Amino acid sequence: AGFAAYVVIGNPIAHSKSPAIHARFAADTAQDMRYTHLLAPLDGFAATVREFIAQGGRGANVTVPFKLEAYALADELTTRAKAAGAVNTLKFENGRILGDNTDGIGLVSDIVRNAGFDLTHKKILLLGAGGAARGVILPLLEGKPAQLVIANRTVAKAEELVQQFQSYGDRPGILSACGFTDAWQQFDLVINATSASLQAELPPLAASLFGPATLAYDMMYGSQPTVFMQFAAAHGAQVRDGLGMLVEQAAEAFFVWRGVRPSTDAVFAALRTQL
Ligand code: NDP
Repeated sequence: AGFAAYVVIGNPIAHSKSPAIHARFAADTAQDMRYTHLLAPLDGFAATVREFIAQGGRGANVTVPFKLEAYALADELTTRAKAAGAVNTLKFENGRILGDNTDGIGLVSDIVRNAGFDLTHKKILLLGAGGAARGVILPLLEGKPAQLVIANRTVAKAEELVQQFQSYGDRPGILSACGFTDAWQQFDLVINATSASLQAELPPLAASLFGPATLAYDMMYGSQPTVFMQFAAAHGAQVRDGLGMLVEQAAEAFFVWRGVRPSTDAVFAALRTQL
C-alpha cells in the first residue's frame, strides 16, 4: 500500500479515540495515511513495535501501560520526553526509533490557546506526582509562571519532582512541594493530575485555593464534570476537563510525524458530543 501507517498501541486499546482523531486530521490536511489501534500483549510491547516497523509502520502513539517501555525502547529521545520520563509518541525513521512526549505540550496548548489562559507570572498548583504530573512540569515552566507548587498525597514524590526539575527553571525558587492540606492560598491555575477522579474521589483541598479568577483543570474527562470540577466550580472557579489535552497531544504527534499542524476545533466539538 502507498499510504503511511500509524497506530496507537496499548492494553486495553479498543476504546481509544485516537484513530478517529487522526482520521479526521488526515482528511483535513490531505495526508495519505492510515491510523489504527494495535493491542500489544502485556509482556510483548517491544516485539509488537518491531513487527509493526518491519511491516513498514512510520509511527505510533503509546498509551497505558506502555509509556515507560516506549521510553526504554527509543534510540533517541527529545528533551521533553527525557523530562517527562515517558514516551507517548514514536517515530520510525532510517531504522531508528525516536521517542517523544506530546502530553505536556498538549495540556499547555489546551490551556493557553483553547482556554485563552496566559501562564506568564501566574501561580500554578499541580495536584499529583505520577506520570501525568511529571510530563507537564517542563511545558508549564516554559510558560514562565511566578510559582509552580506540586502537591501530592505522598509528599516525598512531589519533593523528588522538585529536585529533578530545579535545574530546568531559570528562577530556582519557582518550584516547591507540599501535601494537599498544606496549600491554602488562592491560585490562578489548579491542575488535577491525580487519578483520584477515576474513583470519583477528591483530594482534601481547601476551598480557599479557588476564586473567580481561578482556572481549575482536570486531566480526566467524561460526560459529566468530575468531583474536582464540581468542587472548584462550587467555590467560584472556572473549570475545564482534559478532553482538549487529548486532542492537542494528538495534534502535536501528528505534527511530529507529518510536519503539518491540523486544526483541532472541529474534532474537539465532535468528540464532546460523543462523550
Ligand atoms: P499515576 O498512577 O502515575 O499517578 C497517580 C497520582 O494520583 C499520584 O500522584 C497518586 O498519589 C495520586 N492519587 C491516586 N489516587 C488518589 C486519591 N484517591 N487521592 C489523592 N491522590 C490520589 O497516574 P497518571 O499520572 O498516569 O495519571 C493521572 C491521571 O491523568 C489519570 O486520571 C489519567 O486518566 C489522566 N491523564 C489524562 C490525559 C489526557 O490526555 N487528558 C493524559 C494522561 C493522563 P500518590 O503518589 O500518593 O500515590
